[in-house]
Amino acid sequence: MQRWPPDWPDITDERVLNAIARVPRAEFVPPDLREHAFSDYPLPIGYGQTISQPYIVALMTQLLRLKPDDRVLEVGTGSGYQTAILAELAREVYSVEAIRSLAEAARRRLRRLGYTNVHIRHGDGALGWPEHAPYDAIIVTAAPEELPPALIDQLAEGGRMVIPLGPEYAEQMLYLVEKRGGRVLPRPVAPVRFVPLVSPAVGASAGEDMDADDVET
Ligand code: SAH
Repeated sequence: MQRWPPDWPDITDERVLNAIARVPRAEFVPPDLREHAFSDYPLPIGYGQTISQPYIVALMTQLLRLKPDDRVLEVGTGSGYQTAILAELAREVYSVEAIRSLAEAARRRLRRLGYTNVHIRHGDGALGWPEHAPYDAIIVTAAPEELPPALIDQLAEGGRMVIPLGPEYAEQMLYLVEKRGGRVLPRPVAPVRFVPLVSPAVGASAGEDMDADDVET
């Protein structure tokens, strides 16, 4: 890819484009895949997981309409790339990751890059992170079949949540869910493909315990 960020016709929010320009994506990609860091597709990061495609990161971030004072919850830290983009645009970012090794690697990486407003916890993100709720924005980067009730509870009045919903390993729909006057208003945005949001039992059978413990930055 020649330009960074590329010229995506529907990504017009300058703050989002500036954040993408600032965050060094190559740092979040495995060393042997660095030459692909600025290509517009997802890449493997180990444990069967992927770093999301740059366009999808841009689209989801734009939909959140972040303000500098916002507090954000992310479910699915993965490489921490989306986390860094959020940290550029909001006050505090709380991110929950089900795979301990990924959570710890992302914490180290984000600390090394100088992010001080990011907090990472190993645990089941479907339960959110109630201690810091409510959140002005919630972003989910793995797909459940249905909206997790805890995440709706933890969304502030006037808050925005961006979440893919649908069956495992099939086409899913990206939703923008807003809470207004206590009502939950979901709007479909685009067809997408994400890894599934795993349940604690699946995580445990993959050799990962799912105790919620903080690996705070
Ligand atoms: N935004 C990340 C995307 C990683 S892929 C990036 O761009 O790097 C989705 C991530 O969600 C994976 O790391 C996966 O381990 C995690 N995940 C899946 N189910 C989860 C759950 N129940 N709670 C927290 N994280 C989960």
